[in-house]
Amino acid sequence: MGTRTFKSDEVDRLTERDRRRQEWYLNEMKKKRRAMLILGGMGIAAILVLVGIIMLLVHVFSPKDTAVIEDKLSKTKSSEISLVDNMADEKVSFGSGEELQNSKVNTSERGLIVIDPGHGGYDSGCISSLKYEKEIDLEIAMLLSEKLKAKGFSVYMTRIDDSFVGINDRAILANECEGALALISIHQNSSENSSDEGVEAWTSNDATNEQLAELIALEVSEKTGAINGGVVTKDNLVICSKAEMPAVIVECGYLSNKREAQNLCEPTYQEKIATGLANAVDGFLPEKTAK
Ligand SMILES: [Zn+2]
Repeated sequence: MGTRTFKSDEVDRLTERDRRRQEWYLNEMKKKRRAMLILGGMGIAAILVLVGIIMLLVHVFSPKDTAVIEDKLSKTKSSEISLVDNMADEKVSFGSGEELQNSKVNTSERGLIVIDPGHGGYDSGCISSLKYEKEIDLEIAMLLSEKLKAKGFSVYMTRIDDSFVGINDRAILANECEGALALISIHQNSSENSSDEGVEAWTSNDATNEQLAELIALEVSEKTGAINGGVVTKDNLVICSKAEMPAVIVECGYLSNKREAQNLCEPTYQEKIATGLANAVDGFLPEKTAK
């Protein structure tokens, strides 16, 4: 390669051109960096908005679209615990008007029946996407109370609102009802198997209890058309073993079964359950032979 010599002004021009080129290059780099920052920020913002929208959609739609039991296992456990737990109970609290609507004293010819709506307060029982078990239990109990009164019985309910009543207190309250003839504890079932369905009557191993339980399962199944799951005897049911009267826990149906859960929330279906239960009490305590 040949060598070339520059005049001094030519060298100045070259240096000036290099300086401008470098300045232009630095400017371009700055612009690029700013554009990248803006784009990145917009990207992150867009992702955040998208995530927000997705979370909102999931929140709004999922509970209503499916009758899925939330947290099936733990809820089933909590339901079981409240039936068999022997731990100390909390104080019983009722809303006002207890004396007016709810009395432990028998004032009728046919005698006094104790109705025990399951769960209550912070104890929701089984949970379906439609309703808590405690609500369904109370709704059926209220209907049963009316039907038993219409048949000439007095009724005492262990809870008449959304109060928590401990499992031991339920038996104590029932035993305070002098001469009470029977105790019906109202519950809804739950299973990990979503196809499980039908009415079951749980009780302790006792001939009289089993007789009442059999009538309950049969009558409720006949009135509602639900499968008769029959009598289930268990040794660890606090309310059945502590109550000093025939006592049965009726599991009216499975909240873990989508179709049955919908039925159990329906007032007309609840009415059929209550009618079946009242008929069972009627059959267990025929009019002239009240014990
Ligand atoms: Zn229950």
